[in-house]
Amino acid sequence: VIEIRDLHKSYGDLEVLKGVDVTAPAGHVVSLIGSSGSGKSTLLRCANLLEDSQQGDVLFCGEPVIWKGTGQSRHPGDHAQMIRIRTNLSMVFQQFNLWAHMTILQNVMEAPVTVLKRDKAEVEEKARAYLAKVGIGDKCDVYPAQLSGGQQQRAAIARALCMEPRALLFDEPTSALDPELEQEVVKVIKDLATEGRTMIIVTHDMRLAADVSDHVIFLHQGKIEEEGAPDVLFNHPKTDRLRGFLSATQ
Ligand code: ATP
Ligand code: MG
Repeated sequence: VIEIRDLHKSYGDLEVLKGVDVTAPAGHVVSLIGSSGSGKSTLLRCANLLEDSQQGDVLFCGEPVIWKGTGQSRHPGDHAQMIRIRTNLSMVFQQFNLWAHMTILQNVMEAPVTVLKRDKAEVEEKARAYLAKVGIGDKCDVYPAQLSGGQQQRAAIARALCMEPRALLFDEPTSALDPELEQEVVKVIKDLATEGRTMIIVTHDMRLAADVSDHVIFLHQGKIEEEGAPDVLFNHPKTDRLRGFLSATQ
């Protein structure tokens, strides 16, 4: 579904991604791990075109992003294509990012109704079903502040699902949560993996990465240092950097 080839991304003089390749085929779960500042969030944001990049390609379902300009002034050149890609890669953030002035149901319905122009009654039915699926079907009419962190994050996942995207992108979905609440969210993510959803997950939770991933990528200073199947990567790390990273995260 998503393919990133030789992506380079700089903020001014700071080169954050130095030629990264990531492929997330349909039905696969890819996890991105690495130290703070290694470029994980930037890579995720480049994948759904929230960030421009300077060099390399992003392909969505085999279709390459059309760029306009080169180098520092390169942007997605086809607005309709950019919107289509963005709405098909729904992002779930660490801080939930729910709208405080809207109820949970309104939060989940907002983008399908206003961005995708879907029928309101149909969206409502789906929104209620996705909220039930993540275990908060009884919270439709309350506001985000009335929910626990784990419930808010599950609402954010229902909101991403209600876009009916081709893939889900998670940026540290559990790191703002207390350990007990974290498990509620981990369970939802595991269920989505079992369903065969395509996902890219940035996480500090090595157990989650080991449990759900088909492929794990270890980023170090904007480059892929090591990657592979989770059992191989976690049990038999080849590089000193990955060994050091794994022992520091235990
Ligand atoms: P963390 O685990 O802390 O979330 P990360 O791997 O997600 O880290 P990024 O957020 O991708 O790291 O940041 C990579 C580098 O890019 C960092 O050095 C960061 O300071 C820099 N950076 C990120 N966003 C910007 C920005 N908007 N402007 C300038 N520099 C940025
Ligand atoms: Mg980050």
